[in-house]
Amino acid sequence: MTTQRELLEAGQASFFPNYRQPDLVLVKGEGDWVVDHEGRRYLDLIQGIATNVIGHAHPRLVAALKTQAEALWHVSNLYWNEPAILLAKRLCETSFAERVFFCNSGAEANEGALKLARRFHHDRGAPRQEILAFEKSFHGRTMGALKATGQPKYHEGFEPLPGGFEHLPFGEEAIFERIGEQTAAVIVEPIQGEGGLIVPPPGWLRRLRERTEAVGALLILDEVQSGIGRTGTLWAHEHEGITPDILTSAKSLGGGFPIGALLARAEVAASFVPGTHASTFGGNALATRAALTVLEVLLDEGVLEASRETARRLRAGLEDRLVATGKIEGVRGVGLWLGLEVPGKATAFRDAALEEGILVNALGADVVRLAPALTLGAEGEAAALEGLTRVADRL
Ligand code: PLP
Repeated sequence: MTTQRELLEAGQASFFPNYRQPDLVLVKGEGDWVVDHEGRRYLDLIQGIATNVIGHAHPRLVAALKTQAEALWHVSNLYWNEPAILLAKRLCETSFAERVFFCNSGAEANEGALKLARRFHHDRGAPRQEILAFEKSFHGRTMGALKATGQPKYHEGFEPLPGGFEHLPFGEEAIFERIGEQTAAVIVEPIQGEGGLIVPPPGWLRRLRERTEAVGALLILDEVQSGIGRTGTLWAHEHEGITPDILTSAKSLGGGFPIGALLARAEVAASFVPGTHASTFGGNALATRAALTVLEVLLDEGVLEASRETARRLRAGLEDRLVATGKIEGVRGVGLWLGLEVPGKATAFRDAALEEGILVNALGADVVRLAPALTLGAEGEAAALEGLTRVADRL
């Protein structure tokens, strides 16, 4: 039988060297827990990087995928399929959107959004090229999404990237006058995820919406990480009472199954006429069935609502045990998307957590990200508080 060590050696010998996984091979997941090849159990507080929003192997999701797998997988957009239609309808019913385009990932959704914004102005006979984005943002690794990403370290060695982009400081008032009638679109995360879980000042997103609207620039909200309940509402922008022109989604949308989506107002979506944009796997029946089931569990079973109470308790517990006792500097974030502030010690914290049987992730050097399932149960919550306290004690 293949051992974990043999698998690790085979992985290291055959993968590109762009990831730095620890020495374990995961073989099973159930709810808040995963199990490695040697039978060791871990509490999963990162859930596939804020993706398995209803945990591992949720029974309803497993059942829906089994049924769909026996019915139909893939027909491409040459034909309609039922789960894709039902998902698009549900997304429109539960958001500002009037039209949906399906793709496979966050980066692909953002590429589509950037293309759509430029095409929208082109179609009005007054082309605009300028895309404004923000410092410390993260929008993905493909050329356009990478250029929108406001972290120069990710650009290094990949130039030339597409032109027409500029980055502004996130959360600052002074940027509004920079947005003008030459601006095709502003792309922004309502809360910056990879940049360190940075929440802008209250009202800033609303003023950004007002300014873009006043000058006819489109507002693209990148809700790839913040969406699908992560902050306690289906979309993070609901907290600010605004709506975008275009929204990008991925990650939690499929609950662990790869899918991305572009949501838009009908007037904007109208620019993607046949031939302008497409994706072979977009709207794949398995992926859309997964996403439809995720929405049903979150919205029809009260999971989204209950997650707000779990988030309140978890945060209060972290404040009590870790912040009030001086073990860490603070807790940031919204909903079940939390950052533990541990300046200079994020990777040491992550590694110690792994030894304690907890999966978390380091956002740079200073912040440890927690993105548990919104279905986080009582056992997981207690284990998180006890385990993270033990980890903080060791640092
Ligand atoms: N946008 C945001 C806000 C993200 O956090 C990410 C991934 O972390 C992406 C886009 C890229 O998504 P993907 O890795 O699915 O391409």
